[in-house]
Amino acid sequence: MTVTPRLPRHTHYIGGAWTEPAEGGYFVSVNPTTGLPWYEAAEGTAADVDRAVAAARTAFENPAWRDLSQTRRGRLLRVLGDLIGEHAEELARTETLDNGKLLREMRAQLAGLPEYFYYYAGLADKIHGEVIPGASRELLNYTLREPVGVIGAITPWNSPLLLTATKLAPALAAGNTLVIKPSEHTSASLLALAPLFDEAGFPPGVVNVVTGHGATAGAPLAAHPDVAKVTFTGSTETGRRIAQVCADRFVRATLELGGKSPNIVFPDADLGSAAMGVIAGIFAAAGQTCVAGSRVLVHRDVYDEVLERVTARAATIRIGDPLEDTTELGPLALADQLAKVESYVELGRSEGGKVVCGGVRPETGLDGFFYTPTVFTGTENSMRICQEEIFGPVATVMPFASEEEAVALANDSAYGLAAGVWTRDLNRAHRMSARLEAGTVWVNTYRSMSPMSPRAGFKNSGVGTEHGTEVIREYTRLKSVWINTSEEPAGDPFILKS
Ligand code: NAD
Repeated sequence: MTVTPRLPRHTHYIGGAWTEPAEGGYFVSVNPTTGLPWYEAAEGTAADVDRAVAAARTAFENPAWRDLSQTRRGRLLRVLGDLIGEHAEELARTETLDNGKLLREMRAQLAGLPEYFYYYAGLADKIHGEVIPGASRELLNYTLREPVGVIGAITPWNSPLLLTATKLAPALAAGNTLVIKPSEHTSASLLALAPLFDEAGFPPGVVNVVTGHGATAGAPLAAHPDVAKVTFTGSTETGRRIAQVCADRFVRATLELGGKSPNIVFPDADLGSAAMGVIAGIFAAAGQTCVAGSRVLVHRDVYDEVLERVTARAATIRIGDPLEDTTELGPLALADQLAKVESYVELGRSEGGKVVCGGVRPETGLDGFFYTPTVFTGTENSMRICQEEIFGPVATVMPFASEEEAVALANDSAYGLAAGVWTRDLNRAHRMSARLEAGTVWVNTYRSMSPMSPRAGFKNSGVGTEHGTEVIREYTRLKSVWINTSEEPAGDPFILKS
């Protein structure tokens, strides 16, 4: 008789303790490289969310957190950053096993992750209100910038810890407490991180993790009456639902959503660099990045040359096990994502587009969710494959004749997350940066990011800002205090002073 070994099992992390799910359920997470289950995580329900929010509420009022000096709060963030640095290799491997992204890429991401905590550690004791010149000398008016309370954070699967850190670090720096619901597809790295909150010295309940699915764990978190703010990264569709739920309660929401970003090549660009920028923009992480440069716009004078360079490199991208150093493209993160990409490629063909590279599942010898880097020509910007987010390694390459037309095509999208521009003309770089409707514009580079630089989505790509100093406004509320310093007795309000 063969005995199937039991998969490792992970519970929620609530109030600083590993906590069994209230209803006892667990779900399986699949390694996208092998297509096999590799662990079970607790199936969170409204009852678990209640417990976690209660723990976060208690922690918010616990003097050990509430009365901690802002400088000391910053110190805890710094220690957490150091601990993440020490565990970076194990966390990077966990993410690769969970979402199939290249280990090389996850190592780089994890190596940079402590910087998010260091940056906000430095900011923690620079958060303050201001004194406002009063209506009269006797009236002292000042503002207090206070933490909001319990934050509900809901994250996607494509860069689990990075996209958590962008919420966690500023929210903690501002003195809030959190309940985090990671994607049901990638719970493992956050669960591996959870004990480090305790080790760093955060009081129990300051950070809580409830795993589970969107409808059963995410929705009750977004709707919970004791959650003072929701911060969400994920699809536009889910973001819209969360915005509606938050609007019902007049609760603020930061929403970082999808994209369909243009990557624009002008004839004066260094074409070799531009072609590499196009490849990096759409094929890095198998196109599973919100900022994927999925709409490639190329001036017609250099269209053939750029297309040739892009397809030549795309066709030689090494596809395989993301743990291997030589692999350049791993699998898609989920079986559903593979099916979605395949259906969009079919849709593109049926809309009249021509696949000039890829468009099939590759032979890898592995049972995971692999797809070849795919390039379409002959598409119109109005087609669904040019308008809808595919979130896979699929680019459409379209020609344009003038700068005016490039701007019009680039902005003809419901999304406005990011844009790339390849040019050696400085004036054009500035003109394009001003005219593109995107929260981030990259010129002669693509996908650069830093905790210091704000990230926002325009149009259907989101509401609110992450990164930088601006994000502190999202995690604080402003109170105006008026103090009458006059020694004069208050006069009768109904008798006008002469
Ligand atoms: P998704 O919207 O399906 O899920 C995101 C999270 O929301 C998951 O944790 C999920 O469980 C939860 N969720 C689902 N339904 C919910 C509901 N009704 N109420 C509350 N929570 C719910 O997104 P995904 O497929 O995990 O991630 C891919 C998407 O994320 C893409 O659209 C991508 O562009 C976007 N994304 C955006 C950014 C950004 O910074 N703008 C970054 C990365 C990814």
